Amino acid sequence: MAKECRKRQLRVRRVALFMAPAANRFMRHFKPLEKFSLGVGDRFAHQAKAQLRACQLIARDGVQVVPVWNKSNREHSFIGSEPSDVRAAAQAAVQALNWQGGWHVDADHIRLETVDRFIPHSDFFTLDAADFIGQPVSPEIVCAFVDRHPELVGKITIPQIVASFQTDRAEIERIAGKFLLAVQEAGKTYRHIASKKGNETFIAELSLDETDAPQTPPELLVILAAIADEGIPAQTIAPKFTGRFNKGVDYVGDLAQFEREFHDDLAVIAFAVERYDLPAKLKLSVHSGSDKFSLYPIIRRTLPKFDAGLHIKTAGTTWLEELIGLAEAGGEGLVLAKEIYGSAIEHADELTAPYASVIDIDRTKLPSASEVACWSSEQFTGALRHDRQHPLFNSSFRQLLHVSFKLAAKRGTQYLDLLEANAEIVGRNVTENLHVRHLRPQFIGD
Ligand SMILES: [Zn+2]
Repeated sequence: MAKECRKRQLRVRRVALFMAPAANRFMRHFKPLEKFSLGVGDRFAHQAKAQLRACQLIARDGVQVVPVWNKSNREHSFIGSEPSDVRAAAQAAVQALNWQGGWHVDADHIRLETVDRFIPHSDFFTLDAADFIGQPVSPEIVCAFVDRHPELVGKITIPQIVASFQTDRAEIERIAGKFLLAVQEAGKTYRHIASKKGNETFIAELSLDETDAPQTPPELLVILAAIADEGIPAQTIAPKFTGRFNKGVDYVGDLAQFEREFHDDLAVIAFAVERYDLPAKLKLSVHSGSDKFSLYPIIRRTLPKFDAGLHIKTAGTTWLEELIGLAEAGGEGLVLAKEIYGSAIEHADELTAPYASVIDIDRTKLPSASEVACWSSEQFTGALRHDRQHPLFNSSFRQLLHVSFKLAAKRGTQYLDLLEANAEIVGRNVTENLHVRHLRPQFIGD
């Protein structure tokens, strides 16, 4: 490509000159996001208050973490909910608890074709660029990019990354070819939202996590340069990390490798913020799939090295706390929890299929429906609650129930009425889970 590139350089330079100022227009105008934020999911829109209470408790412990209620288009379609429901539930919780801190509603993993119904109700948009990674982009666009960024070619020394790295034009062209379309598509979605609601009214995140391979430091640097060119004032970026982020259970992978990647990503972001004039507080967003307990100490010790903020999405497991609460309540609650497990095991194939790449269920570890039917509250909650020390904890049981929320949705008012009748015990589980198992280990340290 290098040869073709040189031929086109003159024409391309004119394009580059034309593009840059337009992009810069957007970069100073955005709704600021707080330093620490917690993405929470609330599938049935009944736990916003209990979730917010966890933020109140961590504030009392000394750290401000703001809640961001997120729900993807896919989840709305599974549950039959609307983006307006998420905002209404969040708003009601904020009022009920007289929460004075920030709070946001995230249109999670949206793209141009799915964003519209979120626009009036969200102030945080996770622009999902992952599907466009690796899709072909014209050589002219790649050339224009590399011409615009001669600083990306050669020896790049990033403070706090021990080994500086060496690139050449061919490598930057290859990286640009892989990621430019993805960033440009995110740019289109960003501008579409900005044209409808004004760029000062929302927070933009760029997500690249739903792809195969973690981005290397040079790749992340190219992506950040491209984000600046597109004029997306991204305040969070969700790269792909090494290892498995299975839903609702702990991290499976190489912890030392994760620590290196997390550290290097922070170093590259700090470097790119200066160089490309990106929003000063641009931070990492970890789409954790919830419950990545063994990563929390790494995150906690690495963030201060860069005075970096963090957005951590824990989405999805609040519904498991609902089930735990119902099971703990006993009576009809326990009966329903057992019935849901009974249908889950019967329909395990269809329930797990959409999540095949993010769950790891050992079918031989799943108890039969008739066995579970005889369980006490303690047996059910012991198997389901994510306490790795508990002798009854069963991660296969937990993962199967995690993806079975559609079965509760099918029960409709029966499920919701039980949630309401047992609001206190359910809410206590929701709050304690977020406060004790998620927020404290990441931000306080126990
Ligand atoms: Zn994600």
